Amino acid sequence: MRDIISLLPDALANQIAAGEVVQRPASVVKELMENAIDAGATNIQLIVKEGGRQLIQVIDDGCGMSVTDARLSFERHATSKIKQINDLFAITTFGFRGEALASIAAVAQVEMTSRRAIDDLGTKIVIEGSEVKEQVPVNAPFGTNFQVKNLFFNVPARRNFLKSNTVEFRHINEEFTRVALAHPELSLKLNHNGTDVFVLKPAVLKLRIMALLGNYLNPDLVPVEEQSSILNVTGFIGKPRVAKKSRGDQYFFVNNRFIKDAYLNHAVVHAFEGLLPQGAYPIYVLFLTLDAAKIDINVHPTKTEIKFDDERPIYAILQSAVKKALSKYNVAPSIDFDADTSFSGIYHDPIRNPSPTQPAVKYDVSYNPFPSSPKEKENDGFPQHFPQNRPASSRGWEELYAVIEKPEPEQQQMAAFPSQQPEEQVSTKMSGQPLFQLHNLFILAQIKSGFILVDQNAAHQRILFERFRAMEGQRNHLSQQTLFPETIEFSIQEAIIVEEILPQLQVFGFDIRPLGRNAFVVHGMPLEIEMSAVHGFLHELINQFKNQNAQLAVSKFDQIVIRMAVNAAIKPGKPLNETEMQTIIDELFACEMPYYTPEGKQTIVTITLEELKERFK
Ligand code: ADP
Ligand code: MG
Repeated sequence: MRDIISLLPDALANQIAAGEVVQRPASVVKELMENAIDAGATNIQLIVKEGGRQLIQVIDDGCGMSVTDARLSFERHATSKIKQINDLFAITTFGFRGEALASIAAVAQVEMTSRRAIDDLGTKIVIEGSEVKEQVPVNAPFGTNFQVKNLFFNVPARRNFLKSNTVEFRHINEEFTRVALAHPELSLKLNHNGTDVFVLKPAVLKLRIMALLGNYLNPDLVPVEEQSSILNVTGFIGKPRVAKKSRGDQYFFVNNRFIKDAYLNHAVVHAFEGLLPQGAYPIYVLFLTLDAAKIDINVHPTKTEIKFDDERPIYAILQSAVKKALSKYNVAPSIDFDADTSFSGIYHDPIRNPSPTQPAVKYDVSYNPFPSSPKEKENDGFPQHFPQNRPASSRGWEELYAVIEKPEPEQQQMAAFPSQQPEEQVSTKMSGQPLFQLHNLFILAQIKSGFILVDQNAAHQRILFERFRAMEGQRNHLSQQTLFPETIEFSIQEAIIVEEILPQLQVFGFDIRPLGRNAFVVHGMPLEIEMSAVHGFLHELINQFKNQNAQLAVSKFDQIVIRMAVNAAIKPGKPLNETEMQTIIDELFACEMPYYTPEGKQTIVTITLEELKERFK
């Protein structure tokens, strides 16, 4: 019997593999532009003809390639970007490496010219359907000029499968937009059929967004800025009034790479709740930065999906960041704001309750439209300008409490007691609700839909973190001076770090003075930290700095705050009396981000009655 297994010819194998990477002209655009960026280009031109069917050309001023590298770059698994297996675990690699050029060359007619700045002559390669036709020296400007012609010329089935030029160009435009948003520092140009579609100069993000999505957005882009130890969020959201009737203009970048994620989208859209009519999609361009190790890269290279180790804190932080941005915007005066009477009622916030005839409130970044603690509530009747640095409360917890505190609108009318003004129903107090401590670890509180368990240590960490953080910019924090100054020795590396953070430590009441030879003397400590804990505290802090992920811009200040909060928080196992429990609950829900510790541990678990009933079946 004849053998029936035979090896696929290389060219065919390449075509099949190419299907993974090259689905349509836009995939080529993505790969070529990414390569140009990887090559350190500052100026990239994308020239397209017939929706990319006829020509996709990318010209960059990046590092260029040597004669050998130019030839090698078309080999499968040829890459200059992985030297060690560890490199694979950085999000920047994200998928297969060294597949793109080989795949593109398998299904198109490619002409590439490249020159390194150090070389006198460049090199030109012509390659068609994986077959190298020629490689010759040429005069060329430094950088790389890539022309991909007649995509799928040798795979008619795929060529026929392409959509109209308009549709294919729309995909290309979308890829270009993603790259351009992620890299506002680059000069970029997109030309289609001889017409410049975009000519973008290096710009700040906001201007780049306007250039791509429309200059009309200028007054309606709200900055989003949130830093935490798990995740940094930056970018812009569009005010509700510029929301779109269809999806699109929604961009997430994780570690500067575009991704689509329904769950994260939900977090953002939810933050807009009550502000958007049915069927409106908010505009957003948001950048999430987090430790690459916390992301699963085991996803398809050409897809734009991502998996997080634990997406819940990411959801919560993202949502809170957007809410915060919206609540700031909420009081920003603008002609449109005053004219837009429909807006004033959207929040149904009885405390803010601006009447359309009132003069515009002066913009105040510390303004907080939501009451954040019972103490502040006593200010009712006074302008709602809270002291700077007061953490703005998120609305999530109010919703949680709303179930027991806020009567339904109909019930409000029938409230038996005149003292039950609508204002007082938005209270953070669980007054009248007994609190229990379980095993000196958790505080149990009943809510209408069931009960919550609050981890006393985790909750207190969050409370202290936000309290300490509010001290930024303040001086003269209370300090306890010690009778017996303590000398602590460090390694050279550690001592450098200590030197560096001494000014920040001072803000909190640390009185630490260098003694020379990597030793320091502690003369005073903040009241919150036990003198006996100073050794442990400083070492923990320094370790944190040493292990800091370079990508995460957690400021020195925040790092100190986190360590102080962790150190000073009431410990698991500590018995608490009624007042202490009440204080923790109240203060936790007055926090900007009550649900997680600054290091991302959950503070609250909610158990619903349904879940309980389920258990008794
Ligand atoms: P990868 O980008 O995953 O390494 P590619 O197939 O896209 O794989 O590219 C292969 C190699 O070719 C790259 O690693 C790089 O060394 C080189 N290369 C590709 N495009 C360029 C460019 N525009 N400028 C300089 N070098 C390039
Ligand atoms: Mg590449």
